[in-house]
Amino acid sequence: MNYKNIIEKVFLDTNNFPDKGIMPNYIPELANVDPAMFGVHLTTLNGENCGIGANLEKFSIQSIAKVFSLTLAYKILGEEIWKRLDVEPSGTKFDSLLLLEINNGIPRNPFVNSGAIVICDILISNLDNPKEEFLEFIRDLSDLPDLNYSDKIADSEKANGYRNVALCNFIKSFGNIKNDPTEVLDFYFDLCSLEMSCQQLSYTFTYLANGGKKITNNHKMISPSQSKRINALMLTCGFYDESGEFAFKVGLPGKSGVGGGIVAVYPNNYAIAVWSPRLNPHGNSFLGMKFLEEFTTHSELTIF
Ligand code: GLN
Repeated sequence: MNYKNIIEKVFLDTNNFPDKGIMPNYIPELANVDPAMFGVHLTTLNGENCGIGANLEKFSIQSIAKVFSLTLAYKILGEEIWKRLDVEPSGTKFDSLLLLEINNGIPRNPFVNSGAIVICDILISNLDNPKEEFLEFIRDLSDLPDLNYSDKIADSEKANGYRNVALCNFIKSFGNIKNDPTEVLDFYFDLCSLEMSCQQLSYTFTYLANGGKKITNNHKMISPSQSKRINALMLTCGFYDESGEFAFKVGLPGKSGVGGGIVAVYPNNYAIAVWSPRLNPHGNSFLGMKFLEEFTTHSELTIF
């Protein structure tokens, strides 16, 4: 498959779209990014690389990092983890409080904010130095020894994170947050502040196309079954109330972030990352969604 030709063609076609979405405004720091940024990078399991546009530019990965925190928590707790959260699509926006009341504080899945906040609580309970140990885990997974949290982005979100504060306290009222909500939220905001490029993201996500093993040294990060299940969750829940649409139009497991990044995984083949900061009404990258739809249409390869 000549991925390079397809990526170049689809990149040009997509970039000509008249409507490109709008910049997020509820995390002020994210609105300071150049709206015209657009990058794509694909990494195959045999180490082939293909990138275009702003593929080497770092951006705020936001909710894409929820896949990494789930990976570490799942590795530590195993199937026990599902006592604290569910594996069902929410059909709601990423920061919705709606279903927590009827589900007694059990989040619908690990990728809505409520679920990712519970995962942070789990990591705090199970690690001596959660922030440092989580960072070490991602540095190893990504082979990026300098990867770090961004204080600027975390502080910007913290100053405006009213809904996440509400979510964490609401879940605490049901007993499904065990630690101090301030500490849990502090970790959550740091998690969301990580910055990576499309090239770094596509490389890092290859473990999910490779049965849970890193492609460079075959080091097992999680079991094949856990890798399969994380992919299943990305397919059904990775785009909140647009997850059905992504499965329908793109046909791959994926995860978006409000910083405009999207990562998609084609098991046994590749991981691909796209970044364009303008968002559609569901909080997912407008051009990113379009690009991936066209990309799998032209490559004619999906998990279906
Ligand atoms: N940090 C963001 C928030 O909590 C993450 C949301 C997202 O990327 N969809 O609102």
